[in-house]
Amino acid sequence: MRRPLVAGNWKMHGTRASVAELVAGLAGLELPESVEAAVIPSFLFTEYVVANLGKRFVVGAQDCAIQSAQGALTGEVASTQLSDVGCSLVLIGHSERRSIIGESDEILAQKFSAALDAGLVPVLCVGESLAQREAGKTLSVIDEQLGSMIAQVGIEAFARAVIAYEPVWAIGTGLTASPQQAQDVHAAIRSRLAGESAEIAQGIRILYGGSVKAANAAELFGMPDIDGGLVGGASLNADEFGAICRAAGS
Ligand code: PEP
Repeated sequence: MRRPLVAGNWKMHGTRASVAELVAGLAGLELPESVEAAVIPSFLFTEYVVANLGKRFVVGAQDCAIQSAQGALTGEVASTQLSDVGCSLVLIGHSERRSIIGESDEILAQKFSAALDAGLVPVLCVGESLAQREAGKTLSVIDEQLGSMIAQVGIEAFARAVIAYEPVWAIGTGLTASPQQAQDVHAAIRSRLAGESAEIAQGIRILYGGSVKAANAAELFGMPDIDGGLVGGASLNADEFGAICRAAGS
């Protein structure tokens, strides 16, 4: 039985005042025990969020450096530094980092390994663009992203990882994959992993991300291979995020 995970990616949002307000709202939520809830603030607010929410929420990071050890790498944050301040998961390969920052599969594999070296759970994000979906290439794109990571880090590394399927055309656009569209891709991801290890495929949590909100969460999370969500915009509203977490527990 896979425990659902709902993770709120705050992206590059937040001031001290707005984060304090959001944290106060999240601290007051009633959340189902059956769901693991996570928040992923900007690095700037990690310690504050751990101090104020760390007992009830898993705290994550949006990125980490390619090496786990601290050292001479200006502007980067090492996975061991993240674990030192109380982070326990880290996003790897969010589409904004793949397409805007230009992170390659090789860089992402180094980050994935660095996360594991520090005891963090890597959340590997995969997903196709609108053009790729329209060209019928969704499954081959996902297969390539996944296959490249498996080839570089090995299937065993996925025993401690989470995968997030995030169709790029649904991120921040208000467009959501239908529950069936999402389920089809999630099932394909699980089956791809099963080709390497049935046990890892069965145990791994595969989250859906792309305009998840309270109004569509229950239907998405009701699909057999959708084990929770990676939530962007809607995670900046405590009540909305609480409703999404509750949908994962129903
Ligand atoms: C995301 O950025 O991971 C995301 C899914 O964003 P949104 O929920 O805003 O589409």
